[in-house]
Amino acid sequence: MDRSFSTRAVHAGRGDFIEKGVHAPPIDFSSTYPTPNLDEAARSFDSLVAGDEPQGTFVYQRLFNPTTDRFEKALAELEGAEDAAAFSSGMAAFTAVLLAAKTRGMHVVAVRPLYGTADHLLTSRLLGHSVTWTTPDRITAALRPNTCLVVIETPGNPTLELVDIKAVVKQAGEVPVLVDSTFATPVLQRPLELGASLVLHSATKFLGGHGDVLAGVVAGPHALVRDIKHVRAATGGLLHPLASFLLHRGLPTLELRVLRAQETAIEIAKRLVDDRRIASVRFPALPGQDPRRLLGRQMAGPGSVLAFELASDDPAVMRHFVEALELITPAVSLGSTDTLIQPPAALTHRVVDKHAREKAGISGGLLRLSVGLEDVRDVWRDLDHALAEVASRLELHDRAPAMAP
Ligand SMILES: *Cc1c(COP(=O)(O)O)cnc(C)c1O
Repeated sequence: MDRSFSTRAVHAGRGDFIEKGVHAPPIDFSSTYPTPNLDEAARSFDSLVAGDEPQGTFVYQRLFNPTTDRFEKALAELEGAEDAAAFSSGMAAFTAVLLAAKTRGMHVVAVRPLYGTADHLLTSRLLGHSVTWTTPDRITAALRPNTCLVVIETPGNPTLELVDIKAVVKQAGEVPVLVDSTFATPVLQRPLELGASLVLHSATKFLGGHGDVLAGVVAGPHALVRDIKHVRAATGGLLHPLASFLLHRGLPTLELRVLRAQETAIEIAKRLVDDRRIASVRFPALPGQDPRRLLGRQMAGPGSVLAFELASDDPAVMRHFVEALELITPAVSLGSTDTLIQPPAALTHRVVDKHAREKAGISGGLLRLSVGLEDVRDVWRDLDHALAEVASRLELHDRAPAMAP
């Protein structure tokens, strides 16, 4: 289909509405379904447990829910995937991917930084896999005969580094590559079109977009998603139909939200990098921060999350700065309507080994800012005001190096 992304985002998963006589996705809350025909129910049960489509009755909600299925089909369409599986959180989705990969081997190759809890899940060996941490240019050397998955995240959380998806896929050879594309959304980046096997989202973030849904989704080819759905049918974690409805409801406005927040983030990043009260800014669109020139090729724009350090090493100054903010919400998570700020080393990435954290550039003073949908002038006024509150305790910089002429 050659309709544009915007059009598909409005209509995805809604193709049968006229036939059904509805204008919004119906929500089906049933936890169980009548099974008057036992033979049909048994057939459908077998099919669903294997990760396949229902054959008549849906049998039981853990196995299938039509509202969730609708959202999955819609998201798959936007990612250019054959199928998708939605979960009750991004971590539940990642867990199912890892469990499904076990049939291929027990070794994972991963690149830091990853979302803090994803890093923890691998490092702790909670699911039994061993992990080799490597860099994007050394994937091949890290592979073993029992490597079942290569895991990357781009842009990386919270340092906003971009990883070259095509280059990683090439090095991974036959081993499936999972890309956590949470920060990009299908509006800015579609990893499957670049050769990745699976794309994962914490749908809690931009896909939900309103700070009121916890969800995860993974999309890819039938064969891999089928195995993931098999795991989900056995272990649970299917996304609740109300959450699925809310996610599906948000898809038509996803592009508007992502592009508007991105526009504001670009302006905020420029102002921060120009500001003597700021020591450093991480944002892919800033000069020197996209050495592989992935913006425009791999990712249509830099997104709306950035990270920065105040011109002070004193954690008390950072705390004071955050307390002085009046509009921006101090909170973990991102991709909400409102602008959120949090210090990753102290919160989201505290589960990551301290040495690995520092090596990945997650310093104690780093602040991650998820720019929301407020007016750029109000967001800047709030940052500027809080910077003024702590200015006397900052070591003012001549000029951030990224802006040198
Ligand atoms: C939040 C997040 C996750 C985890 O998702 P949950 O929905 O919180 O379980 C995974 N990856 C990235 C990049 C995230 O930001």
